[in-house]
Amino acid sequence: MTFTLRCRPYTLELKHRFTLAHSSRTTTPTLLVELERDGIVGRGEAAMPPYLGETQDTARAFLTAIDLSVLDDPFAVARALATVDTLAPGNTAAKAAFDIALHDWLGQRLGQPHWRVLGLDRDATPATSFTLGIDDPDQLAERAADAARTFRALKIKLGGEHDRDAITAIRRATDVALRVDVNQGWRDREAALAELRWLADRGIELVEQPMPRDDREGTAWLRKRSPLPIFADEAVQRLADVAAAAGVYDGVNVKLMKCTGLREAHAMLVTARALGLRVMLGCMTETSCGIAAAAQLASLADVVDLDGALLVQNDPFEPMPFADGRVLPNELPGLGVMPRTR
Ligand SMILES: [Mg+2]
Repeated sequence: MTFTLRCRPYTLELKHRFTLAHSSRTTTPTLLVELERDGIVGRGEAAMPPYLGETQDTARAFLTAIDLSVLDDPFAVARALATVDTLAPGNTAAKAAFDIALHDWLGQRLGQPHWRVLGLDRDATPATSFTLGIDDPDQLAERAADAARTFRALKIKLGGEHDRDAITAIRRATDVALRVDVNQGWRDREAALAELRWLADRGIELVEQPMPRDDREGTAWLRKRSPLPIFADEAVQRLADVAAAAGVYDGVNVKLMKCTGLREAHAMLVTARALGLRVMLGCMTETSCGIAAAAQLASLADVVDLDGALLVQNDPFEPMPFADGRVLPNELPGLGVMPRTR
């Protein structure tokens, strides 16, 4: 019996307009994927923020071109995913959707949650941050104070025109832990250093991707002088990028949609740690399917940013358990993804 693969385009509607240093949007396209065999449906997702360069059409074309005989032995995961990876370069979100759906199927077949198959300790999951996009400082302060009632850390997007005003307003409203993501928004290293020192005085925890991803030399210069840890996001997509981040960054942000899914993300988490890098496990704007997948690995991370489904108002799946500021994987076999019933 062979697998069948189904794809369904789905548009995520965001609760708030999401503005970054380089773009602004109110929706994110995603492709919901199902792999079915023996009455078991594995669910996956390809979430496609504009900067990855994939679309619902490219992801669907990639996935429907896969010869599913690659899954004749579905437990031969390493071989199957390596084969899929070589079909075409890029297409990381489409590849992640396939990886996620396969892991969901395998876990259900085994009757165990994936985090248990991996032998992980769910109780070790760190609290997630909640992300606030670039906004008017007063609005941000209000939203930060509101989010601080639920979350133990907030991630603030910088690189706009009113960065210092925004941080000042937020700090006036709450003393919750703050992380900052510049999304490559700073070009000048001296100015960036001045910003980092100013942010350090406001008790910021870490800064993500302050400089353009290609400016390794500038980032290494900045890191040597920075009072705050600097994490790579855009600069680190896949496993091969992790080694290059050592010496330039203090940590790396691993996301399933960038790195083709759970299997490679796990390798990246282990590799980063071996290289002395700290590890953030992040996400795109995603449904609870993508978040359920990432949550399986969250106990391996130092820093967790799995708020993607919480930013969405039309999540088609049941939310993952949320307790004490933490997004947790559930006890269900596979990835625990359940279509929303309400
Ligand atoms: Mg980022």
